[in-house]
Amino acid sequence: MSQVVERLREGLGDRVKVDEATRDAHRRDWWVLSELQDLQGRGPERPLAVVEPQSVEEVSRTLTICREARTHVVTYGGGSGVCGGIRSEAGDVILSTAGLSGLVDVDDHNLTATFRAGTNGLAAEEEIQSHGLTIGHWPQSIGLASVGGLVATRSAGQFSTAYGNIEDMILDLEVVLPDGQVLRTRRTPRASAGPDLRHLFLGSEGTLGVITEATFSLRPLPEASRGQAFHFTDLDAGVEGIRRILRDGFRPAVVRLYDAKESGRNFPDDCPDGRSFLILLHEGPEELVAAQIAGVAKRCAEIGGTEANAATVDHWLGERNNVPGFDVFLEKGIILDTIEIASTWEHVAPIYRAAIAGLEKVDGILSASAHTSHAYRSGTNLYFTFLARPAEREAMEATYHACWRSVLDAVVAGGGGIAHHHGIGRVRSGRLVEEVGPVGIDLLRTVKRALDPDDLLNPGALLPASTAGA
Ligand SMILES: Cc1cc2nc3c(=O)[nH]c(=O)nc-3n(C[C@H](O)[C@H](O)[C@H](O)COP(=O)(O)OP(=O)(O)OC[C@H]3O[C@@H](n4cnc5c(N)ncnc54)[C@H](O)[C@@H]3O)c2cc1C
Repeated sequence: MSQVVERLREGLGDRVKVDEATRDAHRRDWWVLSELQDLQGRGPERPLAVVEPQSVEEVSRTLTICREARTHVVTYGGGSGVCGGIRSEAGDVILSTAGLSGLVDVDDHNLTATFRAGTNGLAAEEEIQSHGLTIGHWPQSIGLASVGGLVATRSAGQFSTAYGNIEDMILDLEVVLPDGQVLRTRRTPRASAGPDLRHLFLGSEGTLGVITEATFSLRPLPEASRGQAFHFTDLDAGVEGIRRILRDGFRPAVVRLYDAKESGRNFPDDCPDGRSFLILLHEGPEELVAAQIAGVAKRCAEIGGTEANAATVDHWLGERNNVPGFDVFLEKGIILDTIEIASTWEHVAPIYRAAIAGLEKVDGILSASAHTSHAYRSGTNLYFTFLARPAEREAMEATYHACWRSVLDAVVAGGGGIAHHHGIGRVRSGRLVEEVGPVGIDLLRTVKRALDPDDLLNPGALLPASTAGA
């Protein structure tokens, strides 16, 4: 047994797992490239050990022991990340938050709830709903992800247009820093007390500390919830419709517009004819929902949208969290992935066209499509899906990189942002400089060095391995 595992055992007893099955199960997240490499027998290596602390003190002890032994620590929440945020190497220790689970407190008067970081996202939402309240954060992976992982990746939920993203819901955090100290931010609805320390950890992807608790700002369950759907001639027209709706002050909870390919694929009965399909869900008091339905119908009609079957939204609600597995495709020699980006309004349609054109030039491409699903006053996201089958299976990895490159090249050249909600991980770390610039990279590196001088926490996720901690 290695020295660090011996010391972890002394400090944490049977919280330290070294059996092959547990180490195997924590080698990686859902990143399709790691899954492909696994199938090819060259996937990520088994970590030295998996530690499952049950308290903040045990997290602190784990980090302190690993720091003294200069051992890398990779935090594992639900393991549902899709960007390679978790990818272990032989000498790593995985810190699983599975033992840090459950509700700490819920407060109906102040509309707050605190969860331990390893709590499953769906379990947290269901617990809050039993009090007549909601968190309102519905990523498709809600049943797979942990509260801490949602914070650490700056995730977005399907109802984000009304309720905001994770950063709009988190009131305070408890975080164990790389040297074992515990930071607790203050619970207050807003502060003008210098830079907001929560934002150091929102999106930090396990590189700056381990989130151990998070407090959400809640809402009462909505009184009414009603769907609405429209056809538009194409994606551009639909994007203009969404821009008008947001500009005029309407805030549907769900706003999803599909290009012709995805409209036909997802709604074959309701939009089979090459048009773009827009679905919306309005939530809140009955008066507000009625006003939104009427106002949105008027705006869409003014710019050429035609009202479609609203029952489609119920169908989407029933199906929306069915999670597809990648393995069926990979075994057939098909490589696929999704890439979510963001842009101000003026660049959305040009980026869409350039990225799809770029994907269609990749050898072996079978399908390239997109939808938008998170709208803001100043712009929206685009969520691309690609499938490709290169002539040779050995070329699947190169094809994968070619697809990613073609989309991110189009986004950067077109003035967009490279990541809307899946995070950076190992798939995008080499391109973070195009988002934040060399000065931004230096600043992030300085922060990383100050907190984690030996680059022990999840090196290679977020900042490129060659530069982090340098
Ligand atoms: C089918 C599917 C659908 C998805 N849909 C969405 C979606 O709609 N919206 C969305 O935003 N994302 C989505 N994702 C991506 C993923 O679910 C999110 O990124 C989620 O937030 C990851 O949470 P997790 O607990 O699984 O994190 P993990 O995969 O365990 O970890 C993600 C990163 O965060 C770090 N981390 C985890 N926990 C902590 C902690 N407590 N403290 C510090 N660092 C930590 C890890 O080290 C890693 O770098 C989807 C993924 C899948 C597979």
